[in-house]
Amino acid sequence: MKNVSHLTKAVLFLGVLAAIGAFRASAQDASNPWPKDPYYANNRKPDSRLKVDLLVVVAHPDDEVMATAYVIRAIEQGKRVALVWTVRGNGGTNEVGPEQAEAMADIRVMEGMKAGAFMGVTAMWNLEGFDTPSQNPLESLDASGHGRLLDRMVRIVRITRPNVILAWLPLGVTGENHGDHQASGILSTEAFDMAGDPTAFPEQVAPAREPLQNSNRTEGLRPWQPQKLYFFSNPTHMDFFSGQGPEYSSTEISPSRHTTYGEVAARGFVFHGTQGGVALESAIEKHAIDGLEEPIPLTKPTQFILGKSLVKCGVTDDVFAGVVPGGIPFQRVPGYTAGAETAPSLKLGGTWGYYRDFWPAHGLERLGTLIPPEVSIQVGGVLSLPMVLENPLDHPIKVGFRVQAPSGWKFSPIPDATVEAHDRYLLRLLSDAPTTKLPGWQQFHVTAESDGKSIGAVDLRVELEGWALQQ
Ligand SMILES: [Zn+2]
Repeated sequence: MKNVSHLTKAVLFLGVLAAIGAFRASAQDASNPWPKDPYYANNRKPDSRLKVDLLVVVAHPDDEVMATAYVIRAIEQGKRVALVWTVRGNGGTNEVGPEQAEAMADIRVMEGMKAGAFMGVTAMWNLEGFDTPSQNPLESLDASGHGRLLDRMVRIVRITRPNVILAWLPLGVTGENHGDHQASGILSTEAFDMAGDPTAFPEQVAPAREPLQNSNRTEGLRPWQPQKLYFFSNPTHMDFFSGQGPEYSSTEISPSRHTTYGEVAARGFVFHGTQGGVALESAIEKHAIDGLEEPIPLTKPTQFILGKSLVKCGVTDDVFAGVVPGGIPFQRVPGYTAGAETAPSLKLGGTWGYYRDFWPAHGLERLGTLIPPEVSIQVGGVLSLPMVLENPLDHPIKVGFRVQAPSGWKFSPIPDATVEAHDRYLLRLLSDAPTTKLPGWQQFHVTAESDGKSIGAVDLRVELEGWALQQ
């Protein structure tokens, strides 16, 4: 082209521009809204910029500190990581300014994004649920709109196509045991199981009908099946984590950050000024963080529980052990199966009853074997022990109860109950907790009898805390 004049080049260039313009105009011609090949744009490959190896899902901005040390380690191994918060952070107190409630949430969302950028994650979303201060995950899902959050969670799995999802443990444990934390684990589990199913949120995987129009109509994603699901938690006792998943040292030196993984996690928490980050930064500068173990795992190892793996690997193997690089086909979970009870029974109700159905429905039976039912109650608070009686018989039954409670707890006897044929009967024991902290597990044991025969018993161990969220 060296003999072509500048003028000729300019004319050629303008001609190419005109041709592109004419093509676009014809494709978007209002009189002919359908392109010749309406699916051509959807044959593009999914956006590779969004593909990650690991999707970390937490509830509140600052919860990501539970995973920071591991995320740094994974990124050092060349993994790509995305991060999701399910709620905004509109609850709690502000440790730096007067901003509260929604204003504080806007600040916390931004603080979380800064922490995520510090970690080196490649994509971040906040699903904008609402803080719900209780231990009950179903209250959290109700307050934030379970369907709306799940819709977004499944979409993000399909956008980011993670091999592994790491989330809060969907299990009631002692300690803070925030309902929002458990709810984010429930959402993660549901999204893990649904994202590969094209009939779940099908509008997300329908090819956009008018990809050249502004009103693109449906989303053009593809189904995606993650391979492994791991959980973390922060109970008052970590004994049950042992042997249930991989552990990673917090005292090893990170080759990319030149300090311990625990201290990197602490530095990630500094961005959460509204939640103690400013004080933490000052402590780090004074080299006075040794005594600070909560909420940052400075020296304790990062411990995970394997929820399930759809690929071959050992329980305590590395998070990415066995992962198939190209992805795996969809695997349907068992789903809920109604029990075939033939005799009257007494069981724990409430969230314990919910999890009893949830775990096997999602292939997480192992979570039901980790600990006996337990809960934290604040000194001077009230324990609610929910129960459910089932009567599969063809006639009504009369049921009497006996309660064994630890000393210092006050409660009224449970009156006899009549359960109609083929019906259930919900009841709960309410007990006032002692006003001073008692050490050790506080064991409750309730038995039920009908026609002089035992029809079941429930056990609940309670830890008295100086502070605890309401049940
Ligand atoms: Zn939290």
